[in-house]
Amino acid sequence: MNRKGLITALLSIAFVALAIGALQVLVIRPATDRAKARACYSNLKFIIIGEREYAREHGTGYQTNLICLSNELNSPMHLSCVNDDVRYRQVRDKLKPLEGYGSAEHWARLTMNDCSYEAFFRDTNTLVVRCPIHKMSVYTNPGMTNPAWKHEGL
Ligand SMILES: [Zn+2]
Repeated sequence: MNRKGLITALLSIAFVALAIGALQVLVIRPATDRAKARACYSNLKFIIIGEREYAREHGTGYQTNLICLSNELNSPMHLSCVNDDVRYRQVRDKLKPLEGYGSAEHWARLTMNDCSYEAFFRDTNTLVVRCPIHKMSVYTNPGMTNPAWKHEGL
């Protein structure tokens, strides 16, 4: 290969590397971020639906302690946001040694410190569950709105 051919080959490789980098930054990363936000929002919806179930079953109203939704949520992993690496690992590590046991043992090891989401009452009938990382909140009252955060009343 002569010198001109070598330069052409190197420029081609550099161009392809730049194109892959641009594709990563402009297309793949935003799509991944959107998918993660959707997964988080899905967790929030599961929690609100679980809250409704819990309130109906126990007649005690909504709970700000999300750990008590052990019978309503499929997995404790619904309590950690996909972008909250610290809590995600915390929950995963607490569940690991208990493989083979029932889910009650899993839930018994968790505290609200393992939960990425915040739950509080906006008024007596409206529980808000929100993700501080994604700035999304879901309400138990369908009429509620929050212009600053992505929101939905379910
Ligand atoms: Zn989140």
